[in-house]
Amino acid sequence: LFISFEGIDGAGKSTHIEHLAQAFRDQGREVCLTREPGGTPLAEQLRELVLHSAMDALTEALLIFAGRRDHLLQVIEPALARGAVVLCDRFTDASFAYQGAGRGFDLQLLGTLESWVQRTEAAPLRQPDLTVWFDLPPTIAAARLSGARAPDRFESQPEAFFSRVAGGYAARAAAEPARFARIDAAAEREAVALQIADVFAARGWL
Ligand code: ATP
Ligand code: C5P
Repeated sequence: LFISFEGIDGAGKSTHIEHLAQAFRDQGREVCLTREPGGTPLAEQLRELVLHSAMDALTEALLIFAGRRDHLLQVIEPALARGAVVLCDRFTDASFAYQGAGRGFDLQLLGTLESWVQRTEAAPLRQPDLTVWFDLPPTIAAARLSGARAPDRFESQPEAFFSRVAGGYAARAAAEPARFARIDAAAEREAVALQIADVFAARGWL
């Protein structure tokens, strides 16, 4: 199983992924907990560059997809081949939301990069089996993050940027409704956890 978690900064992904990982481990499943940008030594180096150096949108997209290729080949595909559950904090939908909707990078070109980067020996176009989408208005996310930690290059963007990013996620979800499970992330932690539990129970996965 390959499951990605998406949403704007501060939507609550990290809060819930660890709990899900434990639920799968309790079932005796091997869990591969990973994240993007990053997930391998090379991709983590690229993450540092992307998060802390100014660059144009094409450079940013290419670095993120380069890291994704390494992550997919070194970590995700081997884990899937072993039968592990892969829980990935962000994947390609984030590129459509941040580089595409957020920064205005060409969506068709992102689709081309996606088709190159996600072609592996095991899959003609590797995609998550499920994407858990934490949908949260940017004003609430900003309030949750304020004071919580030092902002990176993206987190210090104006709210209009996150509104575009949120719109980018909504568009991806509308285009692939079977893959996306929308979570109302504005709810309280416990209520969010219950929504997530329902999504996995409905698929017979937990
Ligand atoms: P990022 O992608 O930027 O790392 P994230 O989606 O992983 O963000 P979290 O770090 O899980 O988000 O949550 C952001 C902040 O909001 C944290 O301080 C967290 O404790 C808090 N938080 C998470 N869920 C809720 C909730 N349902 N209600 C209120 N606060 C929450
Ligand atoms: O999810 P995480 O906090 O680890 O993401 C790090 C930062 O990278 C976030 O601020 C997010 O906005 C940004 N990002 C991005 N493009 C992606 C994925 C993440 O700009 N494709």
